[in-house]
Formats: sequence, structure tokens, C-alpha cells
Amino acid sequence: MKYFMEYPEEIEELCDSCLGRIYAMKGHGLTNMDRGRAIRVIYAMEKNMNYEEVKAEKCSLCNNIFNDIEKFADIAIEEMKNYEFKTFLIGVRIDQSLLEKEKILHEKYGNFGESIKNELSREIGKLISIKIKRDVDLKKPDLTVIIDIDYYSAEIKSRSVFIKGRYRKYVRNIPQTRWMHDKGEKSVEERIGEIAINQFKGDNFYLHGAGREDVDVLMLGNGRPFILEITNPRLRYLDLKSIENEVNEKNKNIIEIENLEYSNSKEVEKLKSKEFIKTYDLEIEMEREISYDELYSKLKSLENMIIDQRTPLRVIKSRSDKIRKKKIRKIEIKNIEGRVVEIEIETDPGTYIKEFAHGDNGRTTPSISSVLDQKIKIIKLDVVKILEPEER
Ligand SMILES: [Zn+2]
Repeated sequence: MKYFMEYPEEIEELCDSCLGRIYAMKGHGLTNMDRGRAIRVIYAMEKNMNYEEVKAEKCSLCNNIFNDIEKFADIAIEEMKNYEFKTFLIGVRIDQSLLEKEKILHEKYGNFGESIKNELSREIGKLISIKIKRDVDLKKPDLTVIIDIDYYSAEIKSRSVFIKGRYRKYVRNIPQTRWMHDKGEKSVEERIGEIAINQFKGDNFYLHGAGREDVDVLMLGNGRPFILEITNPRLRYLDLKSIENEVNEKNKNIIEIENLEYSNSKEVEKLKSKEFIKTYDLEIEMEREISYDELYSKLKSLENMIIDQRTPLRVIKSRSDKIRKKKIRKIEIKNIEGRVVEIEIETDPGTYIKEFAHGDNGRTTPSISSVLDQKIKIIKLDVVKILEPEER
């Protein structure tokens, strides 16, 4: 009588889990321990032996690690208590030599096995799920818990929280992010991020803006869209209004944020690839005064024009040198006082507006400087409107 295809010759030195795992791909609705036990039961019957006698006291592969499943679950649960979450995923770190030993064993019997890493993660996850009544999520868990099998410890990584909104910047000399070193005061990123990280109890924060802005440029009007990422947050279900209020109170007349909502990493990608149309308020000083009519007709001649913009000298070190074609969509004179002119300009996404004004030594043509046929100085530049692509 032969019940089973092939008994592994290691049958008497393995635990039921490790024995069953050799044939993990055989049969459904079974744990590996079920499989191992079944194989051993039949083996004992065939050999007419006592079941307990054909079982190893200490498994030669895993050292009876499966007896400690509950201990691992409790270690993880203790660490998870520090976090707010709905779903989780368990991973394990285990000695590499054990994995190699297991691979050889599985190859020997036809490669129907499953890795001990998988089984441990799954079984510990199942037990935790029962104990704390939260679900395992394989794709997008709130918490990823890595359990170290050799050290009996657990390490937690909490999925980033993303919040989106718009910001206005009322003061010059404030950089957009803290990575724009050596100039300016505390960045917009820090002014929002430090308050958010504190409330979410996270590890770090990053501001993803809809485009960059020079340190000396104000951000007015409807504000610039941004998404703030908070990494490894302990809390994740906060009332965003309290962050909005705290940022606005502590940064009165400096920056202001509004319309905070929860977002996600996909929206960060979208934000970065979206092309926003911007309207600027530009104040220039001409070398010599010209009549209103001349100024008007020359500036208006730039409206709807496609300009050629070679990569500006000031950024050439970090970007490839090429010519970009950009449309000047609208140009309006707002105010004139002697040689000082205030102009509102709406342009294509990615237009270098300072270079469009002064011409960048002929690298941008035509430019305000070239049509006025004189040198011009930029007094100030502000962003006054940013439109989402769908708002065009
Ligand atoms: Zn074992």
C-alpha cells in the first residue's frame, strides 16, 4: 500500500510545518502544518510505528521556530501599539543560511515548496489579525512590520501621509524648500512641514510643489498647489483644519495655506507632471522713458507670440542646454510711473519669466528688452495666479 508519492528522507528530523512546506503547492485549504502532519500520519501507519516516534524533537531546519509564532505576534503587537492604523503587513528577516538550506531541500523534492519566510509572515499575520481585529493588506498596508526571527524584535514602517492644499507667500526671501540652501529664511516647506510632522508624529517631511519658485518671488492670488508628505506617521487620521489653522496663525503675513485635504503618492506624480499656466506680476525699470502709446504697442506685439528660450545662463549648470518654444498668452500694462512699468503676463508652463524680461544676453528672443530696444531691470516678480490644466 502506497499512500504518498515520496517520503522525504528527512521526515524524522523535520517539524510538521517544515515537512509540509516541501509540498506547499499540493492541495488547497491546508496549512503546511496540516500537510506535514498528514504525511507523517500515513508514514507512521505504513511503517506501523508510533506517530510521536517519527517526529523530530528539534527540527533540523527551523529549530522549532513555529512554536514561537504567538511570541512573535505579541512582540509585533506591542510595537504596533504606538501607531494609528487600519491595515498592516508582516514581513520577516531570517538567517540566510537557513533559506539556502531550505532551497536545496525543496529542489531535492521537485520544487513544490514555499519559502519559510512566506509561511512565517503569513502565519504571524493571521494570528495578529485575529488578536487585534485588523486586516492584513498585501498591497497598500498602513503599517509594514518586519519581524527579526533571530533577535525576536520588530521594526515598523508606517506608510507616508500625504496632504494637499495651496499656499501663498507674502514675503520675499523665503525659499520654497529647505534644500535651496544658503539663501533666505525658513522655507515654506519647513513652515508647513514642522507643524504637520509634529501633529502626525512623523519622522520627516517633504513638500512637493506645483513647479518651483525663486526665493525672491511672491506667491499670491489663488496660491500654489502643493502636496506635503509626512513619513512614518504615528497618527494618520487628524483633522486637517487644525494643521491649517496652526500654520496660518504662526506665519501670519508670511505664508498662508488653505483647502487642506488628504492625498496620496499617485497624486504627487500627477502634480509633478501637470502643466500649470501661470500669471505673473512683473515690475521693471527701463533705461529711458518712452511714450505710453509706444510702450503699449511694443508690449502688445509680444502677446500670442511664440518665443525661443535657450536654457538660461543662471540654471545652465543643472539643466541641458536647449531651446524651448513658449507662448506668451497675455500681456497687460498695469501701471506706469516714469521709467517703472508694472506688467501682468500669462505664459505657457515652464517659461523663464525673468529671462523673457531682460533677454538673457540674447538667449531669449524676442524679449521685453529686445522689443523696447533697451536694457531693463527687474524690480520685482510675483506669481498672481496658477491654473490647473483643467481650469484653462
Ligand atoms: Zn521546522
